Amino acid sequence: MDKSINKGIAELSKALEQPKNIVLVTHINPDGDAIGSTMGFYHYLLAKGHKVTAITPNDFPDFLTWVHGTEKIIVFQKNQKKASEAIKNAEIIVCVDFNDFRRLKDLGPLLENSSATKALIDHHPDPDSVYQYMIHNIKAAATAELVYKYITLSGDRALIDTDIAECLYAGIMTDTGCFSYNISNPDTFLSVADLMECGINRDKIYNHLYDNFTEERMRLMGYSLNERMVTLHKCHAAYIALTREDMERYHFKTGDSEGFVNLPLSIKGIHITALFTEKKDHVRISLRSRGNFAVNEICNKYFEGGGHKNAAGGESKLSLKETIEKFEKVLETYKDEIEKCYPSGF
Ligand code: 5GP
Ligand code: MN
Repeated sequence: MDKSINKGIAELSKALEQPKNIVLVTHINPDGDAIGSTMGFYHYLLAKGHKVTAITPNDFPDFLTWVHGTEKIIVFQKNQKKASEAIKNAEIIVCVDFNDFRRLKDLGPLLENSSATKALIDHHPDPDSVYQYMIHNIKAAATAELVYKYITLSGDRALIDTDIAECLYAGIMTDTGCFSYNISNPDTFLSVADLMECGINRDKIYNHLYDNFTEERMRLMGYSLNERMVTLHKCHAAYIALTREDMERYHFKTGDSEGFVNLPLSIKGIHITALFTEKKDHVRISLRSRGNFAVNEICNKYFEGGGHKNAAGGESKLSLKETIEKFEKVLETYKDEIEKCYPSGF
């Protein structure tokens, strides 16, 4: 990784020389990197003698509850009073794995109105300018990798115990699809190799993350591919759209559609995918791409969201049907660009 993060690390490290009251916050619908990087940093900061509180806007999926210390996380949606108090008492608030307060939903205004010093550790593009300390690099495979860098460059490699290493390994593993994409720098593998030296149980982590789903989720996956996947070969795209009824039928739980958006990317010639899930008052959208086509632009411009070039999300207040129609129309307008990104034979 380039040296752009060194300044932020040195500055934050200096600010944290004396014990502080620190709050770590991560984004809504936390994924493996959100929880892994937050909890890895949490355990490290505790070991450094700080008082630390971790907050998520809403609940996290069952397949992440094994991560050491997650029982200590304050879930804002379930315990607003405790979360507000922690934020009120914080000297430093660290935003982990997101950089836009809108990604906190109802928790956002609390942070915005807080006078605590703000720090950022994140790999998403275009951060706001509200952060006094910034450890930010969009080339990082995961925020967990940045946490690893923070700890090692602060001279604290010796503090990475098995628990911290498992958190960080899980974060990098999930954000890279088991080390298969989103890795632009060989250095990431060196970080992972070093984490493996810390006594982590790789089989246990893999099983928890990928072999831990309900039978119903598996059947919903089959149904999604069989009945709900639509291909748009002219645009090198495919999408899956799940109605509320579909999800009720398969007793949908948070995290059950994790990874579905990637599935159609396995089809030859499909390089752009979408997953639409119908919620009570909106439609949640996930987009993925391979190669040069930037899906964060589409989420940003048309679906009140954002993300990375190849993995982005957003939402729509239109009906599911209207949202899909809009998506198809938007994609049509990008047809020439898509053609350039994916010349025949790609
Ligand atoms: P997912 O499709 O897994 O929910 O999200 C894919 C990527 O896009 C993640 O890196 C996530 O942080 C980002 N993302 C998802 N939803 C939003 C959103 O509503 N706003 C922004 N800015 N980023 C999002
Ligand atoms: Mn991440």
